Amino acid sequence: MKSGKQKRVEIKAKRKHKVAKIQLRNNQQERQLRPVLGPPVNEELLAPNNSYGAPDFVYRGYYVDRPFRCVDCDKEEVWTGTQQKWWYEVAKGFAYSTAVRCRVCRRKKREQSAESRRVHLEGIQRKKQARKKSGMEKSS
Ligand SMILES: [Zn+2]
Repeated sequence: MKSGKQKRVEIKAKRKHKVAKIQLRNNQQERQLRPVLGPPVNEELLAPNNSYGAPDFVYRGYYVDRPFRCVDCDKEEVWTGTQQKWWYEVAKGFAYSTAVRCRVCRRKKREQSAESRRVHLEGIQRKKQARKKSGMEKSS
């Protein structure tokens, strides 16, 4: 015997499922009716993800420009459909990731991490050389 609460939960879940189905159908109809407004999504090229649904651009069928605010400098910038297509399909970026930094901050961040990598590698190199040196001193 199911409790009333269980039944309610089931009904709710069913209703939710129905709504999602209708929304999906509407989106598909819209996709057919509306002219293509951005670069088309090639689903096969997307990085695989284990989540149940799909990001909005997959349902839409094409990428649209997305305005966002940079997390570092607060500048407003637009992540264009073309950049998104590249990010998701060429760079295989995670399907639910979006741009958070403006172009300038992105470059800065990239340079910073390249610089810290360089410093790190130099440190390793120095340690190796020091070890070699002390080894030679011992043997002489
Ligand atoms: Zn910025």
